[in-house]
Amino acid sequence: MAKDYYGILGVSRDASDNDIKKAYRKLARKYHPDVNDTPEAAEKFSEISIAQEVLLDPQKRSIVDRGGDPMSQGGGQSSAAYGGGFGDIFEAFFGGGGSGRGPISRVQRGNDALLRTSITLEEAYTGVKHEITIDTAIVCDVCEGSGSESHAKPITCDHCGGAGEIQQVQRSFLGNVMTTATCPKCRGFGDLIPDPCHKCDGAGRVKARRTTSVQIPAGIANGMRVRMSGQGEVGHGGGPAGDLFVEVSIKRHLIFEREDNNLHLTVSVPMVDAALGSTFEVAGLDGQPVVFTIPAGTQPAERLIVPEKGMPRLRSEGHGDMIAHIDIVIPRELDEKSRKILESLREHRDDRSGVHSGEEEESLFSRLRNRFWK
Ligand SMILES: [Zn+2]
Ligand SMILES: [Zn+2]
Repeated sequence: MAKDYYGILGVSRDASDNDIKKAYRKLARKYHPDVNDTPEAAEKFSEISIAQEVLLDPQKRSIVDRGGDPMSQGGGQSSAAYGGGFGDIFEAFFGGGGSGRGPISRVQRGNDALLRTSITLEEAYTGVKHEITIDTAIVCDVCEGSGSESHAKPITCDHCGGAGEIQQVQRSFLGNVMTTATCPKCRGFGDLIPDPCHKCDGAGRVKARRTTSVQIPAGIANGMRVRMSGQGEVGHGGGPAGDLFVEVSIKRHLIFEREDNNLHLTVSVPMVDAALGSTFEVAGLDGQPVVFTIPAGTQPAERLIVPEKGMPRLRSEGHGDMIAHIDIVIPRELDEKSRKILESLREHRDDRSGVHSGEEEESLFSRLRNRFWK
């Protein structure tokens, strides 16, 4: 079934290139992965990108206008036209070489590509543009994707008559059996390039190393992929390029540990600061100081939270929190003066170490007992 490329972009069949570009831009503003990161939007964005590519390419558009689909194998030709009578039936039993589906389209979409890049947590915080180098296929500059040295149109294959496959009669114990095989002359394309390009041998694309830059958005998480539409391998026969996906890994940070959009850190607080209260400063990922207030009487393993100082939310407003885990430090060695001060403090407070008595639990139990066994 051929795709309705006009319907996808919401333009009429006589739309000009300008109308198509305008319609595409309007939809892209709605579905571009930078503004809408749902899977439905990604699918829709890829759909409108392909529709634009097809309709802006006169050759592909003419296939659409003839009721075909330039993006599917077979170039939109009806497969029934090449049905091989008995051949098809016997092929099922004897495994003929051909597909029985007519010629393969020269114009094919290129493969998607996946690349990995690693960034710092600071870069994930601000967003960053990274240079990347990929080994990929690009349009052949000699034939500009046509596959022909002189940009000539392909001619119908004289060996298979354009079917891309040939039927052969083979003798078997059942008698003569018709089988279908890929045409060896045109390799199944159904047509021939009269003067194949010397650089790409008629493929319309060549291997190349390409450098490009990827915009990694602020707030990206470890393992996420950035999709670059149309930046993958260029297709065979000048077909549209696949997409390039860049998988981002975030390096470990010396101070912060990220959990969703929150940033956790551990802070050493001297016991006197914990008892009396204090403040401390941490340099945030944007370089700005974040001030924490330690309340008097802070206990070991307590957490202090400063809201909105964590990672920015990806493609959204606001930030996560910065969360400090308190590690209270008790001096291992004391000088003479410190010892005296602490000893007089002990005398003053008359605090004593002891086993936790569980008195509270007992009183709760006796209250319950009193209630039920009165
Ligand atoms: Zn070429
Ligand atoms: Zn052929």
